[in-house]
Amino acid sequence: MEILSGLNLEEFEALTEKLGASKFRARQIHNWIYLKSVKEIDEMTDLSVKFREQLKEVAKVTDTKIKVKQTSSDGTIKYLLEYPDGECVETVLMRFDNRANLTACVSSQVGCAVNCSFCATGKRGFIRNLNYKEIIEQVLTIQRDTGLKVTNIVFMGQGEPLLNLDNVLKAMKIFNEDFQIGARRLTVSTSGIIPQINKLAQLDMQSTLALSLHASNHETRAKLMQIENKYPMDELHKALKKYTDKTGRRITIEYLLIKDLNDTAQCAKELAWYLKDIKCNINLIPYNPTEKNDYQRPSNNSIMKFKYLMEHSGKKVTIRLERGADIDAACGQLRGKIK
Ligand code: SAH
Ligand code: SF4
Repeated sequence: MEILSGLNLEEFEALTEKLGASKFRARQIHNWIYLKSVKEIDEMTDLSVKFREQLKEVAKVTDTKIKVKQTSSDGTIKYLLEYPDGECVETVLMRFDNRANLTACVSSQVGCAVNCSFCATGKRGFIRNLNYKEIIEQVLTIQRDTGLKVTNIVFMGQGEPLLNLDNVLKAMKIFNEDFQIGARRLTVSTSGIIPQINKLAQLDMQSTLALSLHASNHETRAKLMQIENKYPMDELHKALKKYTDKTGRRITIEYLLIKDLNDTAQCAKELAWYLKDIKCNINLIPYNPTEKNDYQRPSNNSIMKFKYLMEHSGKKVTIRLERGADIDAACGQLRGKIK
């Protein structure tokens, strides 16, 4: 059985040719899958009933199942999806006040090998990479289920996208060309895999790169993220500088705020110094509680103070709104299982 989700136009053409239909049918099916997000072949109403029957014999829309769907009081929806081999990942749809903007937060791997101390995903270890079709199925599932068109995609679900870069790049190409989502509406977040950041610089990536920095000095970062021992901050600094010089794009620095650990005035000062010559915006993420560690979220007062100090350094600073915490859909809370 051919799975229609994830095929590109040439592949649809090969399929319609095999069935003895014209290339024009391929374009129609393509639109039904990516732009109108049908659940069933029978919904493709501009295809003849006979052709639909033929198509149904050899193909189906998807083989990915929604195992659990939870809706937060703020409108965020979290899906637990199951792939044919039984592995599951989570994907999150965030609606902001302006309804024209629908952001999907997608996963790139089942589990994650990086194992940061504050993150629920890492606790499972690494299970496997998702292939590009499994990545785009997440967005198609959201579109099929809600009947809405996703406008922005962030690779901030489970997994380290730069450790599955080929599939992530393929998925981004399809998001761009087939879903017609502009490159600048796609964001890839990484814990800082230096060789792959260099590769993205070479490729002149026009999507947004977000870096999970989370600390202002080596000792603190190494405590939070063991990857700091492999790819330390001073090396990272060179790679980021190269990246912004080459692409001309501003990067997003993600900075998790944990009470008394990295939220002091001294940390803000060090961070400002570290980012002095890097073209970036700063996104502060107040820590979301997960099981198995005793980090705490700073008070609103210290969050605002940190923001103020960073703004003083001349950067644009935003605070990430917590979305879907009541259904464990907020940053770092995705575990890929039900309980
Ligand atoms: N692996 C990639 C992308 C997925 S994580 C990365 O680490 O960048 C998306 C963001 O959520 C990262 O910035 C991550 O550090 C952050 N995050 C992880 N655990 C968190 C927690 N408990 N509270 C708030 N943010 C968290
Ligand atoms: Fe992996 Fe990102 Fe979680 Fe770290 S924060 S364990 S890199 S998913």
